Amino acid sequence: MDRRQFFKTAGATTAGVAAATTLATPALSQGIKEMVIVSTWPRDFPGLGIPAQRLAARIAELTEGRINVQYFAAGERVGAFDSFDEVASGNAQAYIAADYYWKGKHPGWAPFTAIPFGMTYTEIDAWIKYGGGQELWDELAGEFGLKNFAMGNTGVQMGGWFNKEINSPDDLKGLKMRIPGLGGDVMSKLGVSPVSLPGSQIYENLVSGAIDATEWVGPYNDFFMKFYEAAKYYYWPGMHEPGAQLALGMNKKFHDSLSKIDQQIIKAACNEENAQTMAETNANNGAYLDRLVKDHGVQLREFNDDVYSAFGEAALEVIEEARDHSPLSKKIYDAVTAKTKEIGSWTALSDMAYVQKRNTFFNNG
Ligand code: CA
Repeated sequence: MDRRQFFKTAGATTAGVAAATTLATPALSQGIKEMVIVSTWPRDFPGLGIPAQRLAARIAELTEGRINVQYFAAGERVGAFDSFDEVASGNAQAYIAADYYWKGKHPGWAPFTAIPFGMTYTEIDAWIKYGGGQELWDELAGEFGLKNFAMGNTGVQMGGWFNKEINSPDDLKGLKMRIPGLGGDVMSKLGVSPVSLPGSQIYENLVSGAIDATEWVGPYNDFFMKFYEAAKYYYWPGMHEPGAQLALGMNKKFHDSLSKIDQQIIKAACNEENAQTMAETNANNGAYLDRLVKDHGVQLREFNDDVYSAFGEAALEVIEEARDHSPLSKKIYDAVTAKTKEIGSWTALSDMAYVQKRNTFFNNG
């Protein structure tokens, strides 16, 4: 299947379903594997939906028709947050998502996306590939019949959009905020009511006043969400997702049924898209931040030390509670805590220190 065929097949819900019906018989007879991918992102959505579609198309392209990929964006086959069950049950073969959405199934999922005060992109990439992260991910995913790979990252996230200034921890009390993962649990300890809404539903809830605040990603991704129409204060830096890792979660039986070369191709395509998504995000965030401020009157605000201290204290409690869930959770959280310290000791002396000095002397900041 070439790219044109793929996008034609995956073009719309009804077309996708019809194609599945008509293709099933010849595909089986030729030994072609059907791979239905469901995603938690809206279709054609810059920065998240497009990378997911790009990975789906790439798997189809590189396997030269041996894997017939059908891609369904959020809501086209199942709701965003039903993706996990759809794949674990074998109804679909893979999801593309942020694994912290599944923290209610097991808190061990959160560190494979992000935890508050956790790892940046370069750090989590190092942990997964060379620090034992993938092995722990395999152990957890295996308990649910899944096999997961890193397939994208959007770097350090902004703290979120607020309809008023946050000058002290007290200003957070009583707010309803869209913030998933353990970041939501941190906010909860500070008196916020956290809500976990899929991307497609955030804007309407913010405009209607059903929520007072939201986080999403960063300037490039957030620009297209038009949050600036309802909340002018854009806070930085986010403590909740310092390097949110996106994932391809495959049904393990399906993964293991593939030939060795097709397993390798999927892994390689995920690696490729992981770097691609980060590059796309990094290339655009600065320019889109500028547009948000100059064209849409967005007010940038830095969380002050009082607010950040409150985040830190709450995060310690939240991480401790997640760690206490089970022996596997303890194993994962102990590992991520130790590796954040070990890998992060170099980030502090390299990227962090260098960029500060560069921007001081060359006025790039
Ligand atoms: Ca986010």
